[in-house]
Amino acid sequence: MNNVRVRFAPSPTGIPHIGNIRTALFAWIFAKKHHGTFILRIEDTDQNRYDPNSELAIIESLKWLGLEWDEGPEIGGNYGPYRQSERKSIYVEVAEKLIESGKAYYDDTTPEQLKELRQSQKKQKLPPRYDGRGRYRTKEEIEKSRDMGLPITVRLKVPDTGKISFVDTIRGKIEVDAREIDDFVILKSDNMPTYHLAHVVDDYLMRISHVIRAEEWISSTPRHILIHQALEYDLPKYVHVPLILGSDKSKLSKRHGATSVLEYKKEGFINDALFNFLSLLGWSPGDDKELLSKNEIISEFQLNKINSSSAIFDLNKLEWMNGVYIRGYSDEKIIEEVIPILESKDKSIGLPKRVKRPLDKKYLAKIVPLVKERIRTLNEITELIDFFYEENITNTKENIIIKKMNDKDSIKILNKSIDILNNTKSFNSQSLETNFRNLVEIEKVKPGQLFTSLRYALSGKKIAPPLFETMEVLGKEKCLQRVSAAITLLT
Ligand code: GLU
Repeated sequence: MNNVRVRFAPSPTGIPHIGNIRTALFAWIFAKKHHGTFILRIEDTDQNRYDPNSELAIIESLKWLGLEWDEGPEIGGNYGPYRQSERKSIYVEVAEKLIESGKAYYDDTTPEQLKELRQSQKKQKLPPRYDGRGRYRTKEEIEKSRDMGLPITVRLKVPDTGKISFVDTIRGKIEVDAREIDDFVILKSDNMPTYHLAHVVDDYLMRISHVIRAEEWISSTPRHILIHQALEYDLPKYVHVPLILGSDKSKLSKRHGATSVLEYKKEGFINDALFNFLSLLGWSPGDDKELLSKNEIISEFQLNKINSSSAIFDLNKLEWMNGVYIRGYSDEKIIEEVIPILESKDKSIGLPKRVKRPLDKKYLAKIVPLVKERIRTLNEITELIDFFYEENITNTKENIIIKKMNDKDSIKILNKSIDILNNTKSFNSQSLETNFRNLVEIEKVKPGQLFTSLRYALSGKKIAPPLFETMEVLGKEKCLQRVSAAITLLT
């Protein structure tokens, strides 16, 4: 395919939804596949809703996922500026050209009049639509309204008859009656373009080959076709990608968990895992393969394999996939990723404040291999390993007492455990395991009975890394101190 030029054109009005970023991801993959160009265009014409933090979040999300753009604000390109607020004069000029050619007109209908119109249509059970009254306003009347300070918009003159059709790459031919579309606003009274006008003009001037965007724009596309026709622009290819729904099939929202890429980053998800996961939301390579590298995704990607039905966001699957990616990392890489998490001052993420920072990397290097198989997100590590760092841990009598035994017998066996800790010459996991398994046999208890109690004694947790490796990493002194504390609890 020649000259693939695609764009991601977000409106920075809020925290970018993961669905928007997934759309960007599809466009990026498609560009990469065809050695094309991926463009970032900021659609910020709605200055009342513009939010600079939103723009920063969009940029950070794209960068974190590796969706670097070839042209865009700041880096520029041959078709800039790439921020719509810097392109205002272009849209005004285009609107004027449409007026001159009789394809658009000035309209001085006031918001109050439009409201009245809607109300009377409602009474007559008619669909609300603009009635085209501006078509009959004279130049003089418009000038007079302008002098009076009334708001003047520009509307496109929509043909009264005929069909408007276009082909969507995923959904095929879509056709509507021109009658269903009213003369819509293309330039607002503050001289700002509507989305309809601005993106059509920009896509044309920026030589966009494929408009890859969310499904919600399908119903507006006939309007966009009309603008193209009025301006005698060639049409790009349209690719409307499906919505992302939550597990209950309603639109993915906060209720279903995090809806922004950066929240997932904060929760300890890995960018490559999220990339893989997002690529499969609405697309599949056609077999059951789910774990795919970026390069595999790029080579397998095809627009016509994007589904027309909505994608379901399955958080369990994302967590599973993330765990697989973590396991694929080297220990060094995991250490590098988890240090900022463990050292974070945010209580919900990092180790307690009392744990001294910076953490000793060598000590962490002994711990990470014990837990890398068990975490699905990087953040899960903190809770799993905090006891390696704490001076004291909290326990309850119920947890320590050996199952199916009374206090006295439990104390007896725990004391024998102390002896083993004291007498195991080379304090490593193998020797410890051999000795403790001997004890279990001699005492005629089940391994699970004693080991659960010891696990609680050492870590304060039911679920903890493997017991004997944990002992080795904690070291003799700490193990003795903790098992003694557990005995005290029972006495
Ligand atoms: N600014 C629009 C949005 O954020 C862009 C839609 C499009 O890609 O054309 O939804």
